[in-house]
Amino acid sequence: MFLNTKTKKDCCGCSACSNICSVSAITMKEDRCGFFYPHINNDLCVHCDRCRKVCPMNIDLTNQTADPEIYALRNQNSADVKQSSSGGMFSLLAQWTLSQGGVIYGVAFDDAFRVKHLRGKTVSEVLKFRTSKYVESDISEVYLHIKDDLDNGLVVLLTGTPCQISGISRYLKFRHVCTDKLYTCDNICHGVPSHKVWEDYLNILKTKYIAPDDEIISVNMRSKKVSWKEKQLDISLKNGNIDSIIKDFSFNRIFASLYTARPSCFHCHYTSYRRPSDITLGDFWTGETAELSFDTEQGVSEVLINTTKGRELFNQLKDRADICPLSKKQGWQPHLEYSSRQPKKYQAFWSDYTESSDKEAVLRKYMKGSPMTRVIRLLSPVLRKTGLYNLAGKLYNVLPGKKG
Ligand SMILES: Cc1cc2nc3c(=O)[nH]c(=O)nc-3n(C[C@H](O)[C@H](O)[C@H](O)COP(=O)(O)OP(=O)(O)OC[C@H]3O[C@@H](n4cnc5c(N)ncnc54)[C@H](O)[C@@H]3O)c2cc1C
Repeated sequence: MFLNTKTKKDCCGCSACSNICSVSAITMKEDRCGFFYPHINNDLCVHCDRCRKVCPMNIDLTNQTADPEIYALRNQNSADVKQSSSGGMFSLLAQWTLSQGGVIYGVAFDDAFRVKHLRGKTVSEVLKFRTSKYVESDISEVYLHIKDDLDNGLVVLLTGTPCQISGISRYLKFRHVCTDKLYTCDNICHGVPSHKVWEDYLNILKTKYIAPDDEIISVNMRSKKVSWKEKQLDISLKNGNIDSIIKDFSFNRIFASLYTARPSCFHCHYTSYRRPSDITLGDFWTGETAELSFDTEQGVSEVLINTTKGRELFNQLKDRADICPLSKKQGWQPHLEYSSRQPKKYQAFWSDYTESSDKEAVLRKYMKGSPMTRVIRLLSPVLRKTGLYNLAGKLYNVLPGKKG
């Protein structure tokens, strides 16, 4: 039985409910697509209702300010920028946290390249959080550690998707944890793909394209080897390479097609300037809309400062970065206004995918995206260059049948 959710679109999988439950009546269980949902053991449930109240899908953000300060930012340390998704803002936040003797919660690949939220308190642990992993992270285990760290008076930097940040923040509030030393940083979010599809994808590579005596040694979904703007997937092997396979069959394309995204991502509560975090990070692609006085080739972060705490932290870091203030219009992005659109053949994809023994064939069939996605992908670079991206994005949102 699903808790508090009429349909799967009502659950973002943050696991705040299972963590808040004082009688361990809630377990997160995986569905056939690889998304986790809460299940209640009615024999244990004491009907305290805390699971429903803590849920970040139940909150009303309308009272919150929707007027963040917005900046384009590039970390002055080019090595940091090269190793990051965009302009390396996360590295500045992480370095500051470590300098305070604090800990960072971020998303890394584990040894089997599964995507997990982990705790980092050394430079080498924290470096693994850099670059976006376009897969839903397993976050369930960090709740108690964050609480313990805050109870022990440590500075904590928590990063994640907006729904994850909201879930943990609400959990801490319900547990009456002092959050004076908690700094939260979410990302502008396109949606999170199923971890199961990512793990199937790795298996396909291993069984069909990687020699039995070879192995994957690193994965980077935001490699800047070719250029920042191409969002390249780079998978390094111990001996050979599979560049040509990835060029043709890239997980990044699968991510962008949206067929593998969590159902709730198409109904996201957080695709707005109202954020659940102190600081929000994104990619600042539309450099043409602002006159940036610094080099943008290696990547630029878009930074939203949402709270007083976020502003105080930003003020301590901004001397180590090139920054340019942006208006809301200049910093506009689709996912600050509306959720990703569910592809029309979303259900058909999952039926094909779960029933087929040839997962690769199904992924290849759907990864091109819907005709609309293909047109957008083709036109985006031109629209960005000509400054028409924002207008096109706004028009797309009001297309008949597209609103929702
Ligand atoms: C699933 C996803 C979708 C995104 N969609 C957009 C978008 O539509 N538009 C946009 O402008 N930006 C988007 N971003 C944000 C963007 O990719 C960069 O995270 C942002 O530019 C920050 O760059 P950086 O150089 O400061 O961070 P980096 O140094 O690259 O640090 C990456 C940060 O992201 C966190 N992170 C990595 N993987 C995940 C994950 N799976 N879930 C949660 N947190 C994660 C890490 O913990 C770290 O804090 C998305 C990120 C993710 C993870």
